[in-house]
This record gives sequence, C-alpha cells and structure tokens, in this order.
Amino acid sequence: MTLSIDLTSAQTRASLGASARLPEKPSLVGMSRDEMAEALGEAGVPERQRRMRVQQLWHWLYVRGVSDFSQMFNISKDLRVQLDRHFTVARPEVVEEQISNDGTRKWLFRFPPRGAGRPVEVETVYIPEEGRGTLCISSQVGCTLTCSFCHTGTQKLVRNLTAEEILTQLMTARDRLGDFPDAGTPDGAIVPAEGRKITNIVMMGMGEPLYNFEAVKKALLIASDGDGLSLSKRRITLSTSGVVPEIFRTGDEIGVMLAISLHAVRDDLRDMLVPINKKYPLEQLMDACRKYPGLSNARRITFEYVMLRDVNDSIDDAKELVRLLRGIPAKINLIPFNPWPGTNYQCSEWETIEKFADYINQAGYASPIRTPRGRDILAACGQLKSESERMRKSDRLALEAMMIAGHGEA
Ligand code: SAH
Ligand code: SF4
Repeated sequence: MTLSIDLTSAQTRASLGASARLPEKPSLVGMSRDEMAEALGEAGVPERQRRMRVQQLWHWLYVRGVSDFSQMFNISKDLRVQLDRHFTVARPEVVEEQISNDGTRKWLFRFPPRGAGRPVEVETVYIPEEGRGTLCISSQVGCTLTCSFCHTGTQKLVRNLTAEEILTQLMTARDRLGDFPDAGTPDGAIVPAEGRKITNIVMMGMGEPLYNFEAVKKALLIASDGDGLSLSKRRITLSTSGVVPEIFRTGDEIGVMLAISLHAVRDDLRDMLVPINKKYPLEQLMDACRKYPGLSNARRITFEYVMLRDVNDSIDDAKELVRLLRGIPAKINLIPFNPWPGTNYQCSEWETIEKFADYINQAGYASPIRTPRGRDILAACGQLKSESERMRKSDRLALEAMMIAGHGEA
C-alpha cells in the first residue's frame, strides 16, 4: 500500500510550517560566506560585525536547521527584524509527501517564482537502506536532454534550480526525517553524524547537473562544508549523462564522487539511448573519466547501466563493457529499467541481468544490481517528473496495470 499525504490544505501546510513567502526577498541559503557578508553589508550590518554574523547565521542555517530568523536566539531582536525585512531563510512549500511500501519517500517541493517566472515544482527522493540513507536530489526542472528510456527526458527544461533550491531539498528532507531535531530550541543537542537518517546524497534526480554547474557546485560545497551540513564528499555522488567539458572541473572544483550514465558500449546504440553521445562520443567520455581528479581504487567511478530487454543486455555487450572500462577504477551499477506509461522499452529478464552481472563480476568489477525502490510511487530512477506534467489519472492506472502484469518488473 502506498501512503500519500496531500499537503495542499492550508491547515496542514500551516502545521508543517511550510510557509509561503515573498519571492522578491533573496534567500541567505545557498550564498557563500563572502556573498553573505556582502549581502549583510547591503542590508546595513556594520562591517566589523559581518564576519561574526556570517558565522552565527551559518550555524543556525546549516547545523541547527532553523528556517525562521525568530529562532536565532543569539542574535538581537532588532537585527533579526532587520534581517527578516531583507532576506528569507524559508523552506520550499511541501506540496506532497508519499511513502512507498518499501519505506522510500518522495516529496514534491514547490519553489516561488524567480523574477517574472512561475512557481516550479521538483521531486526529491529518500531511500533508506541498512546502515545508510540516500537522498536523491534534482538539479533542474525537466531536462534539455532526451534520453529515450527516461521519463524526465520527456519533460522540457523549465529552468535550472538555484543553489538555494538544491540545498533546501536536502534541508527540508532533513526537517521531515528529524535530522534537525533540535531546531528552534536554544540548547537542544545536535544530531551526531552517525545518528543521521541522510548519510549520502546523489545528484540523480531530475535534470543534468553538469548543465547547471555553478549552482550545483555552490550547493555541494555548502552541503560538504565542515562547519555546517558536513556531508563527506565521498558520500556525495554526481551523475552525468556525459557532459565531457565539465567532468574534470567536477573533480577539481567540487571533489565529489562521479557516476556516468553509460547505458551502451557502442556509439551507434548510445547515440540513440543517450543522445548527448552524438556531441561527446564514447572515446571522449572514457578519456575524461581516465583524467578524473583523485581517481584511485578507493575512489572509483560508478558506471550506470540500465538493463533494456534485447537492446543492450547481451553477453557481447558485457564483454565490450569490460573492454571499454579497462584501466579505469570503476564499479558498474546495473539498473533494472523502470517502466513508465508511453515507453516502448522493457526491462531485461532477471536471468539475463544476473548473467550480465556474473560476467562483469568475473572480470573483476563490483556490479551490484540496483534494487528498484519506490516504484509504486514513481520514485525510482528515471520516473521523476514534476507537477506541471504530473501523470493524469488514466496514466497512473496504466502504470499500475503494467506493474501488476509484471511488465518490466525485475
Ligand atoms: N541526468 C543525470 C542525472 C540523473 S541520474 C544522468 O542522466 O546521469 C538518473 C539515472 O537513472 C541515470 O543513470 C539515468 O540514465 C537512469 N534512468 C533514467 N531513466 C531510467 C529508467 N526508466 N529506468 C532506470 N533508470 C533510468
Ligand atoms: Fe536528462 Fe539524465 Fe534523464 Fe537523460 S537520463 S533525460 S540526462 S535526467
């Protein structure tokens, strides 16, 4: 059974503290320390105080997780009012929270308009596992790329998310999971890193993160900042469909783990499945991977490979995959295809996936098969899509029928 809570009623929204806010006030969330100091200056905070104020704000925002200036107890009331006049630290509106029968959670967040634009909605997914919990974060609303097996790829790009919007997905998920339990109390204890629900993040939601490089970089540098959210860079993975010119910078300037959506080992097939391949073919992609900064056996690149029946799942494909990855510290993540209404693809037979996995395992690569999670709430890889294009009821029913028939099930 799927549990879905509709949070659109005013009463529920108020009780969750999901506040509507004036779009024109800039958010302090997502600013670097220097930008914050400058913004405080523009709001009239004297220069000699700015460093100290930035430190205080950083702590309230990222260690304590407060989303209202009134909760910042060591800042004088007058200054809090002054800050509130100029800035916001509010969370996005939580429009919907769905909990899958396997414990996966999916939120639909709504962000206020930017400039003349409209409000936008994005999906964020939390996947609890034994000993860890992974948050899958979106970087864009929609995607400019059109990978033929991906549901998000059927939605046009609406816009890039800002650093604030990327970070508040993490912060709001932490609110909802109780990872900031002391927020709002003057002396509450801070949740130790090992007690946290969200231990890992993956930039594997909607959008191509390397087409929104600057905002993603800013957000991930704040998420991994030791005086704040403190996630280790080894526990942050950025997945790209293969934007070759930005791959080196990802390692050099952000320093997180890299995942590549490979999905095919020959250019002709990859051109069809992952069309960015026409621009940056396999040879260039593999070359960029070899040069990824900090690569070692302890820091491997993850190659994602979606298993599509009779398309890319033969033993010849597995052989070619092993040949292609030679010399690159790699692990291979096999993803059973997750169906969506309107797709012509089917998931490979389970036996085929196992044979494929065995072959690459014997060649010395770890090749875990990614267990599909949250399929019943369309939270699995490639199933995300935002409200503007959310499924019509008839499509939902069609999907349920597909699941029941075992169509595409691994
Ligand atoms: N745009 C980036 C980040 C998204 S990551 C990228 O493509 O890498 C989401 C992962 O799920 C990607 O590897 C994507 O190729 C894969 N995916 C997309 N649609 C899928 C589907 N229907 N079933 C399984 N995996 C899918
Ligand atoms: Fe975009 Fe990634 Fe989907 Fe391709 S797989 S359409 S790059 S989100």
